[in-house]
Amino acid sequence: MDPTPASSAPSHDVRRTVPRTDVVLADPALVPARRRLGPALVKDVVTEVLARVRAGSLAPSGVLDAVLEALPPAASSLRPVVNATGVLLHTNLGRAPLSQAAVEAMVSAAGTTDVEFDRVTGTRARRGRDTMAALAAAVPSAGGVHVVNNGAAALVLAATVLAQGREIIVSRGEMVEIGDGFRLPDLLVSTGAQLREVGTTNRTCVQDYLAAVGDRTGMVLKVHPSNFVVQGFSSSAGVGELARALAGMDVPLVADLGSGLLRRHRLLPDEPDAETALAAGATLVTGSGDKLLGGPQAGLLLGDRSLVDRLRRHPLARALRVDKLTLAALEATLRGPVPPVIRALEADVVGLRGRATAIARSLLEHGIESEVVDCQAAVGAGGAPGLALPSSAIRLPHELAARLRQGDPAVVGRVERGALLLDIRSVPPELDEDLVRAVLACSPAADG
Ligand SMILES: *Cc1c(COP(=O)(O)O)cnc(C)c1O
Repeated sequence: MDPTPASSAPSHDVRRTVPRTDVVLADPALVPARRRLGPALVKDVVTEVLARVRAGSLAPSGVLDAVLEALPPAASSLRPVVNATGVLLHTNLGRAPLSQAAVEAMVSAAGTTDVEFDRVTGTRARRGRDTMAALAAAVPSAGGVHVVNNGAAALVLAATVLAQGREIIVSRGEMVEIGDGFRLPDLLVSTGAQLREVGTTNRTCVQDYLAAVGDRTGMVLKVHPSNFVVQGFSSSAGVGELARALAGMDVPLVADLGSGLLRRHRLLPDEPDAETALAAGATLVTGSGDKLLGGPQAGLLLGDRSLVDRLRRHPLARALRVDKLTLAALEATLRGPVPPVIRALEADVVGLRGRATAIARSLLEHGIESEVVDCQAAVGAGGAPGLALPSSAIRLPHELAARLRQGDPAVVGRVERGALLLDIRSVPPELDEDLVRAVLACSPAADG
């Protein structure tokens, strides 16, 4: 009897059989990975695998295979996730998915590009000029347009330029928290402006605003309560009536729309849009690029030309400036095909049921039973609160949820009444096959 397992051998013996890191790294089988992922990342994986050999949980002969298996698919750890939550704009999943045209625009701008350069004259040009032109063309009532890092940055820039050391008049019903603990009032106060709250939580009228206007007024702010609805005994002053009441007072009226919707949309009757707000008399509107506009993360500033010029030239604007990738994706979103979020919004429920049925049939061909059910999707991420979009879902056992989240491709659905629903409205049609593959990959019962 000689029961000496490998793991209890003296450590110097084990160490002698552990391959050296530089020897493993020099293996020709790792050359493509080193080129694609970079030497540091590959070395980290090799180090981890060799630690397993040292710990006795891996045989030295298995090192190369283990390294190849543990190599990440890309140098960035962000992974594509199929959004089957039924929330079209899911902040945790990166909000708006970009159109193929926007993706291609980003790829071609990724190297050195003429973002701030005139190729005809060979001199400096206005940064992102064509993106600004596309934005101006989309919103005819905007005399000037500018783009910053996100919606919050747009609001900060406006508040800094117009109301630093002065007052922002805002309704008590519009002091909203936008998510993850960020509250607009805190954001506004951080610019050095003071808030002058008017009205009540449920009701604010034009007279409340007018009574607060004075020497210290920097701006009047209308905030779209984009993630909740107030029902019952409530009322608020619209942009149009406020603009009329403020006419001739030289008080800028800023409307934070949140959603970034540029024009009215027939399916979103209660969602304010930039063109309508400016036509109704707002001096400036702010909004996000990655909500209902369906583009990259960005903050839109649209309105009075001389005010937008002041915003653009303020020192803070440089700190909030967007990069070439954002400008590229935004222009392609504005000029290119209908972005995925709007396609998802406009999708007909009969078509969604058809897609769900086809997916369920594919699953059944591989021995996986599911059920097609009617459900309700939502816009999400600060857009069209309270709006239920009729949708269709694949119903599966809830135990699959965690495995699907960690699968390849990863899929996030929602668990409702003890079952996992994969809501088709938020899934771009070209990902239906990926969805099938993902479910099969994490279903032990799947055959073939
Ligand atoms: C989403 C939202 C913001 C913040 O925009 P980000 O692009 O997320 O910075 C500000 N105001 C309102 C009303 C919003 O809905």
